[in-house]
Amino acid sequence: MKSFRLIILFQFLVVLLAAGQTPSPTPPLLKPDDRLKVDVLLVVAHPDDETGVVSYLVQLVDQHKRVAVIYTTHGEAGHNNMGPERARSLGAVREMELRYALDSVGIKNVWFLGGRDTPSQNVLQSLANWGHGQVQEELVRMVRLTRPEVMLTWMPGFFFGENHGDHQAAGVLATEAFDMAGDPSVFPAQLAGPAKVNETLLDGLQPWQPKKLYYVPDAADDIFKGTGPTYQTSGISPGLKLPYWRTGFETFKYHLTQYRSYIEGLKKMDEKQVAEQEKNWGGEGSFTLGKSLVPGSVTGNVFEGITPARIAFVPLAREAYQQPAALSVELGGPWSFYEKFRRAHGITSLPKPSGPEIGIKRGATLTVPLELHNHTDSVKAITISVKLPDGWTTQTGAGSYSLEPQSDYFAQVLLESPKAETKSVQQIECRAEADGKTIGEVKLSVRLVNGGLPQN
Ligand SMILES: [Zn+2]
Repeated sequence: MKSFRLIILFQFLVVLLAAGQTPSPTPPLLKPDDRLKVDVLLVVAHPDDETGVVSYLVQLVDQHKRVAVIYTTHGEAGHNNMGPERARSLGAVREMELRYALDSVGIKNVWFLGGRDTPSQNVLQSLANWGHGQVQEELVRMVRLTRPEVMLTWMPGFFFGENHGDHQAAGVLATEAFDMAGDPSVFPAQLAGPAKVNETLLDGLQPWQPKKLYYVPDAADDIFKGTGPTYQTSGISPGLKLPYWRTGFETFKYHLTQYRSYIEGLKKMDEKQVAEQEKNWGGEGSFTLGKSLVPGSVTGNVFEGITPARIAFVPLAREAYQQPAALSVELGGPWSFYEKFRRAHGITSLPKPSGPEIGIKRGATLTVPLELHNHTDSVKAITISVKLPDGWTTQTGAGSYSLEPQSDYFAQVLLESPKAETKSVQQIECRAEADGKTIGEVKLSVRLVNGGLPQN
């Protein structure tokens, strides 16, 4: 009997040990959060940059498409016509205004990245002030998180009309993110599964390749006409019971810090006066097709060729860079950057002005950045001379430069523009000579205006 009890006890212990070794059930596998998946992701720089495309975004919402918007800055360098709050505090106020504005038309998925509002025309200063690499990583993360079929952003370029460096920088970053988010080797910590229970470093995302990239051109001249789809704003939104053009007008009213007196004028209008505003706020909208990885035409509908199926990452075919001539001078700064950027991202076929151009305030100093190259084996003297229209004067930068062999230099020509009314577009020419020959000519068209952003 005693041995029988011992056997029972032993068997009981064996059962207990076996129970301890039974694998526990596997945890459920979670799919990417569907609340974040969008059809269109708009990437812009400042709260209120959405104004020009809200009427299109509302049409998408009415078609049950999902829309999200990313702001690369808080617009904290703007005005405040509502209170004393400035700098980062103004940024918080503008975020609130923007969230109310977009919520009023049914757009709730809105994010802000860490860029600082940089009021100049120089895209390179915006990128530097934002921390280009950091904001790029943030934006690639957001593309992988929101998985857009289509990305929409400001045109990355420098031409009359589009002069805010932050707008251009948003377009630069969105183009980079379009080309990077699907690449499994880019920002790999975003694509790693958790390494521990309370993971704080690895994001657990998947690579995502958007299918199309469209730009919102903001050119004063018609250089982008016919380069993408158009849309009408006269139809009525079934969701909001308003003409589409009015959704831009209505959301704009929330941006009181920036446009208080204008908005107070809008708010005093009766219905007849509001209806007459269609001439200012309505009309046809258009985009420029930047990139498409699906079949379709340049001017076809934004969703032409798009199916629910994911597409594979498409690595870019890079063109070789052209070496500068052995002894040469080029226009530097943003103009030089965009030549390289368009080639690096396969968008050289996008329209651009017939030559470099910039608008500056009358009487302001114009900086002409130059890149000097001496890839010969001897010291060379380059002489820069400047040809200016009437009323302009040269401050510094013209004269002779001594260039060491196999070297590259930066130089600046500073010019004083006339204060008086003059022909609006003027031509500046900088000529470089060496060894008694012309080795390069830099031409820049300048439109003199009465206000606007500083060049740098
Ligand atoms: Zn803006």
